[in-house]
Amino acid sequence: MTQTALAETGPETPNVAAHARAWLDANLPGTLREDRLQDRAPTVPELCEWEAKLHRAGLVGATWPERYGGGGRSLRDHLDISREIGRTPMPESVNSIGKELAGPIIMAVGTDAQKDAYLPAILEMRDIWCQGFSEPNAGSDLAGLRTRAVQTSEGWVINGQKIWTSGASKSSRCLLLCRTGSVEDRHRGLVLFAVKTDTPGVDIREIRSIDGARHFCEVFFNNVVVPEADLLGSPDEGWAAATRVLSIERATNRMHRAWRFENQLRHLVRACAADPATRRLVETDYRRQIAAVSVDIDLLKGHVETLVGSLIDGNEIGPRGSLPKLFWSEAHQNFAALALEIVSQFPVTMSDDLKAVKQRMEDIYLKARAETIYAGTTEIQLGIIAKRILRLNRGA
Ligand SMILES: Cc1cc2nc3c(=O)[nH]c(=O)nc-3n(C[C@H](O)[C@H](O)[C@H](O)COP(=O)(O)OP(=O)(O)OC[C@H]3O[C@@H](n4cnc5c(N)ncnc54)[C@H](O)[C@@H]3O)c2cc1C
Repeated sequence: MTQTALAETGPETPNVAAHARAWLDANLPGTLREDRLQDRAPTVPELCEWEAKLHRAGLVGATWPERYGGGGRSLRDHLDISREIGRTPMPESVNSIGKELAGPIIMAVGTDAQKDAYLPAILEMRDIWCQGFSEPNAGSDLAGLRTRAVQTSEGWVINGQKIWTSGASKSSRCLLLCRTGSVEDRHRGLVLFAVKTDTPGVDIREIRSIDGARHFCEVFFNNVVVPEADLLGSPDEGWAAATRVLSIERATNRMHRAWRFENQLRHLVRACAADPATRRLVETDYRRQIAAVSVDIDLLKGHVETLVGSLIDGNEIGPRGSLPKLFWSEAHQNFAALALEIVSQFPVTMSDDLKAVKQRMEDIYLKARAETIYAGTTEIQLGIIAKRILRLNRGA
């Protein structure tokens, strides 16, 4: 559970970024590089092994208390590490819900026993978490959820259905939001659990998505008995905890995004410019659009850095989490469309470098379709910004 590579650097030191960069340069395996042609996707055990190694090197859980396997470092250090992670073409975490959503919530509302039990297991990749919030009739309107939790002498008995639960079939724990009262109670009486996904009565069914992956799931709960020890916070704290999860998800989750986005743009430009058959695409035909994407990336970096500065000053994220979420998802989707247009013009016979960039950009395009939907749709972000930041009244 100890973190070694950064151990000799004190809290908040400029060396953190240099350590992270050197470690990543030396350790990122070629088989995990998204900028190389791969004949198969990495398996979940391979990704878990890599992420556990990242943790041992001190590059994951930097801000978590050392007692739970974290680095006990500042948010500024976390940003520095995130920049370096984003600069590499490594795959996204298979446990970002555990590390970036469940972990912070457990730290905020969990008991000491829950923190000891759940937190180190997340960083060490012994537990992968999924997020069971959305339901067939409760997505944007989360307060309309119907999954019921009833307290009995044996524990809480849960019945209902979740949908779009990313990674549920690979996860061992679910951050599950249920209600104790009736649907009319809306956000009152919502309750959050850490449910073991192998509990009898949990039925997980995979859904195939547009990119061919089976990452999404529907999860059914049929008389699932959850012990009192797996209730997170008090029964009335569910809505406050859920909105906190969502504001983290929109604002600071995957803080490396802007830098990963830049890595993708650079990969596209570098590969095209290096090949006489495609050079004109980036040097003349699409030059202006590429410059515009580059400006978007710099603006996005500014959003993230401003938000981190504000958090360091002790401010809550609140509705301002909607700004980077809206900006990133829209800008990245525009980039994905441009990248697809460019790689669609590659010659039929091409080098492995061009094949690699084509494969990556096509995958980015398909995944980007969902970016303006998950963690709250574009329309919902615009509504939050209008109402809660600009304080605009609804028109007559
Ligand atoms: C890739 C992906 C991963 C996901 N992962 C998870 C996960 O792990 N766990 C989880 O719980 N959920 C997950 N979701 C679900 C996601 O949170 C919901 O899809 C999202 O909140 C939208 O809800 P919905 O699909 O029910 O659409 P709806 O809420 O039905 O919205 C349909 C349309 O109506 C618009 N709309 C709705 N309400 C308003 C309003 N008030 N004002 C203006 N327009 C409105 C929306 O913008 C949208 O265009 C994921 C979704 C995707 C795409």
